[in-house]
Amino acid sequence: MELWYTEEWSEFTRFSIKIDEQLHSEQSEFQRIDILRSEEYGKFFTLDGLMMVTEKDEFIYHDMIVHPAMAVNPEIKNVLVIGAGDGGTVRELTRYKSIEKIDMVEIDGRVVDLCKEHFPGTSSKLEDPRVNVVIQDGLKWVLEADRNYYDLIIVDSTDPIGPGEGLFSTEFYQNCYNILTDNGILINQNESPYFDRYAKEMRRAQDKIRNVFPIALAYQAHIPTYPSGHWLFGFASKKLHPLVDANHELWLENGLKTKYYNPQLHFGAFALPNYVKELLGDV
Ligand code: SAM
Repeated sequence: MELWYTEEWSEFTRFSIKIDEQLHSEQSEFQRIDILRSEEYGKFFTLDGLMMVTEKDEFIYHDMIVHPAMAVNPEIKNVLVIGAGDGGTVRELTRYKSIEKIDMVEIDGRVVDLCKEHFPGTSSKLEDPRVNVVIQDGLKWVLEADRNYYDLIIVDSTDPIGPGEGLFSTEFYQNCYNILTDNGILINQNESPYFDRYAKEMRRAQDKIRNVFPIALAYQAHIPTYPSGHWLFGFASKKLHPLVDANHELWLENGLKTKYYNPQLHFGAFALPNYVKELLGDV
């Protein structure tokens, strides 16, 4: 009998992947975790039935959640990553020699343990000596962290249902603002603009971020296994503008080979379709 993983992208649209094997399934304290293997996407895992990471297209998400900010401020030294239990975001960050410290605050220790076992490709750099993995609610961490400390905060969260809900609140964004340095940047995964359910959350998150940060823009990437394939990230900062302050001459000196991100794409990613600009109230 054929096995298929199916995710509801909208009330009327479903996305399916043919499965070779179910490798693991459990209910953790916070969410249901499923790990599956497929011919097309390699191994992948879902939380509460929603796609998180596939071996085939994770490079797109992780390139785009890390490198645009690093090209805008090459002096980033202290980084906070919230969520991101698979380790892919940390993997990309550790490629920068200039980064001194990465605190990764993930609420669910089971996600980290299972990814270490099943996804060495994303989790391998969690052992880097600059990385401090903390199993705790990110909401609590940003409330208690020192003010004016982090140069970059990356919110690599689940969707705004379940444990990820608070990571889309004004209070959370305000606390992020407080603990960022004057040149600080906040990057968040900002959902999809296409299907209504996701577009509503995308817009709500951007509205709140714009109430807190003087500079706040959305940028996009094509991620085949996320709803509609069209995904947005938020770039917010106190001072630095992603288009004006990007310094790719310096960024290229890092000598990083990236499979998705490049200097031309950096600018293209911020050029949003008209319907998305309208959703964001930018036209
Ligand atoms: N790339 C993924 C996506 O957008 O589908 C996100 C991946 S990452 C696995 C998301 C992580 O955020 C999960 O492991 C989840 O446990 C974590 N998370 C959710 N709420 C959290 C919170 N309040 N504090 C810290 N981590 C949280």
